[in-house]
Amino acid sequence: MSPTTSPVYGLRKNPTLVDFPGRMAVVFFTTGCNFECGFCHNATLLGKQCEGYGWERLRHVCERFRNQWVDGAVITGGEPTLSSNLGELVTFLRDQGFSVKLDTNGSRPDVLAPLLPLLEYVAMDVKCSLPSYEDFVAFPDTEAIVQSVALLRAEAKDYEFRTTVLTDFHSDEEMHGIGDIVRPARRFVVQPFIPRDDLPSAKWCREPRTSPDRLKAVSELMKVYADEVVVRGA
Ligand code: SF4
Repeated sequence: MSPTTSPVYGLRKNPTLVDFPGRMAVVFFTTGCNFECGFCHNATLLGKQCEGYGWERLRHVCERFRNQWVDGAVITGGEPTLSSNLGELVTFLRDQGFSVKLDTNGSRPDVLAPLLPLLEYVAMDVKCSLPSYEDFVAFPDTEAIVQSVALLRAEAKDYEFRTTVLTDFHSDEEMHGIGDIVRPARRFVVQPFIPRDDLPSAKWCREPRTSPDRLKAVSELMKVYADEVVVRGA
């Protein structure tokens, strides 16, 4: 990627109140991912990394959002830690006056570690129990997942672990496996799976939306693993 471009490939048009706890935020997308989640909603961002916004263009975007009372910036993907100049982007957004939140799948603790002092909040997806990672998301390096969890618990200013609950896959046993990875967590978020026609796997296109009852049951089950359990988007 050229040093004259940022890793930002796209952005959500309107500010959001739900993606960065306590802040109104602009959401920036990066491209590329090292997982293959069949239920991914951002499948169009999964291919190889693309040329991003130039820094000057991004500066204008930031100015526009700042004028709408936006005080937070969310960097999401794809998987942002794959971008070679992610650190530059975080510093840039802070210089533009934003608090920065990073979304990650936890696959690159080596990239995450030096960024933590610059991030107000990190949301890490914990997709499944450790033995399921290879089959479920095609990522076998579970040691990296364990390291990222430990890193966030020890060093992040604030963080959440979160799981999108797929009714046919996330049995109680699977959720306990996730609990064993994250405990003792400060915050754990459960969110519903929402089917769409353009998911990478046809199997998950046919999966029903997670019911409020299942989300409630999962949130009860996870209370022994986290100080706070939040249901988001039910
Ligand atoms: S980690 Fe996120 S962006 Fe990557 S494939 Fe899975 S859901 Fe999609």
